[in-house]
Amino acid sequence: AVPLVVAVSTSLSASNGLLIRDRAAFERARNLDAVVLDKTGTLTEGRFGVSDIVLLAGSDENAELAFAAAAENQSEHPIAHGIVAEAKRRNLTIPKASEVSNITGEGIVAKVDGQDIHIVSPGHLARQGKPITNEKLKQLEAQGKTVVALLRDGEPRALFALADIVRPESKDAIAELTRLGIKPVMLTGDAKGVAESVSKELGIAEYFAEVLPDQKSDKIKELQARGLSVAMVGDGVNDAPALVQADLGVAIGAGTDVAVESADVVLVKSDPRDVAAILGLSRATYRKMV
Ligand code: ADP
Ligand code: MG
Repeated sequence: AVPLVVAVSTSLSASNGLLIRDRAAFERARNLDAVVLDKTGTLTEGRFGVSDIVLLAGSDENAELAFAAAAENQSEHPIAHGIVAEAKRRNLTIPKASEVSNITGEGIVAKVDGQDIHIVSPGHLARQGKPITNEKLKQLEAQGKTVVALLRDGEPRALFALADIVRPESKDAIAELTRLGIKPVMLTGDAKGVAESVSKELGIAEYFAEVLPDQKSDKIKELQARGLSVAMVGDGVNDAPALVQADLGVAIGAGTDVAVESADVVLVKSDPRDVAAILGLSRATYRKMV
């Protein structure tokens, strides 16, 4: 039988925008030490717009953008949507791409007009021993912008900077967790400079940057190995293993089905402030029972 206080809190939480899928995990929420939050799509809206284009070769922004949009046209990634939207805004003709394939968490490759197209993170190029040395790159990342590089037949042609919108509720969400004595940590596949800028804006003291999708759950394990009880909040397919690994997995309601199905609690309103509400509610509920 379900204890009455728990039943009451569960229905109360439904009206508050929390969907509790796992009651045992909800009970554990009262003892959490740290909350790890994914950046893109969780702390930010995950809707990117192109803010800057830096040419690394040639002099035709629109030509480079059209190549990039051709490859990204096949991708569901928010960066891809931003690049394609910019090409359409400029009324560019987007050529057809073939042999498109994703490098998960790092970029995309395709063939366009007989050329090999790569659109990848600066981190990916650095790991390949071909770092981008352009001055502008660090400046853009320090502004919190996500930067990707376009290469044609192996030659770097352009950088695209994309700006995302930090959710207006994120700052309050972090402040509230901190007030409750919970350590907020940001987790992202994005570059260090971007993570630094966004975490500073939100008041987050610790972050993990350039984390590849298959390493996200390892970061949760790292914190657990420090003796911390950890919640993970995420929205993406990439976040699912980390949501499962965490002591409490929390999905953004507007996130992917895979994330929602991997989570213990779903934030129905996609409001990160509701994470603190889970902790408060869990503490209030299980305090009454003992
Ligand atoms: P996050 O962890 O912030 O949600 P992802 O793991 O989805 O981010 O992506 C990490 C990085 O991989 C992005 O910041 C970007 O540099 C690169 N990337 C992933 N997919 C694409 C794509 N379709 N086009 C360009 N870059 C991409
Ligand atoms: Mg995300």
